Amino acid sequence: MSCDFVALANVGVQGLHPYQAGKPVDELERELGLTNIVKLASNENPLGPSDVVKAAISAEFAELTRYPDANGYDLKTALANKYQINTNQITLGNGSNDVLEILARTFVSAQHEVIFSQYAFVVYPLVTQSIGAKAVAVAAKDWGHDLDAMADAITDKTKMIFIANPNNPTGTCLSSAQLLAFLAKVPSHIIVVLDEAYYEYADEQADTVAWLKQFPNLVITRTFSKAYGLAALRVGYAMSNDVIADLLNRVRQPFNCNSLAIAAACAALQDSEYLARSVALNQQGMKDLESFFTQYDLPYIPSKGNFITFDTGRDANPVYNQLLQLGVIVRPIGGYGMPNHLRVSIGTEQENQTFKAALINVLELGK
Ligand SMILES: *Cc1c(COP(=O)(O)O)cnc(C)c1O
Repeated sequence: MSCDFVALANVGVQGLHPYQAGKPVDELERELGLTNIVKLASNENPLGPSDVVKAAISAEFAELTRYPDANGYDLKTALANKYQINTNQITLGNGSNDVLEILARTFVSAQHEVIFSQYAFVVYPLVTQSIGAKAVAVAAKDWGHDLDAMADAITDKTKMIFIANPNNPTGTCLSSAQLLAFLAKVPSHIIVVLDEAYYEYADEQADTVAWLKQFPNLVITRTFSKAYGLAALRVGYAMSNDVIADLLNRVRQPFNCNSLAIAAACAALQDSEYLARSVALNQQGMKDLESFFTQYDLPYIPSKGNFITFDTGRDANPVYNQLLQLGVIVRPIGGYGMPNHLRVSIGTEQENQTFKAALINVLELGK
């Protein structure tokens, strides 16, 4: 090649590894010629989309030639009503991943440091390093956030702190008392991003949105990808004080939320029956998998999300690959520094059954 383009890239980008998504069903079908594949790799809602959402999307087809509402008025209004905040405190994103990146690009420069926990969501180091800022990963405690150590890691250069609660990929969850004590310690010029992608599944649903009044440096992110079952449509949002929201909206791409996504999200907010059913199915499946892991002496990390991470007791990659051969896709998390663990999303009863049978087969459990 005539030119070393890698050397031309921003220094932070040179060291990046692309995000590794869960393996798509179609890809495994192509590779192995399998059908009836069970995908439990991306913490998607196993119920599929609700009928209410499908109807809302169909109704939107007539408007496909139009640009979306750049301000997402309908969705922001619905969210503002739900949370009793103002629409000018909401920033919409193309999934909450988009919002996480917008946050970093709005506040963080190359000279800054960004703190998050070891085993926390991989998007935090990605967005930090792409800016060229320093990613500070603080050692975990019991697979979760060690908030005392994270507070100790704050320096003059710290600009942002990411906390995933419940955490992905470990499913650990901090109490509101722990979070509040931490927020009280963080200087107000440091933005604390509380990523609540799994909020709807957690058993303690603290009114964290109410904390925005007390902590102007707090930003809460949530998503429609998990409990609301809209992962394909890419819609998430941040809630913050209005000044921060205004800044985020300057950086945000004007049409980052498309019309179908906005219509679907508005409909999903109305469909409380679907949400309740999703959470109930998850609780049932979680119990089922916990007793399965207990029965076969596989250590697992108790999870408050819609997934559970367990220790295979060996290098998990061959286990992952053998599960693929049996048509079951889970998530290897060696990239998180957990080479012996696998993360499995909670599926339908049937999907969980298929996963358990495949794992028994691969690990020769009970022999
Ligand atoms: C799944 C997930 C998200 C949400 O991603 P979207 O972009 O909204 O689909 C955000 N944070 C964490 C920790 C997640 O696991």
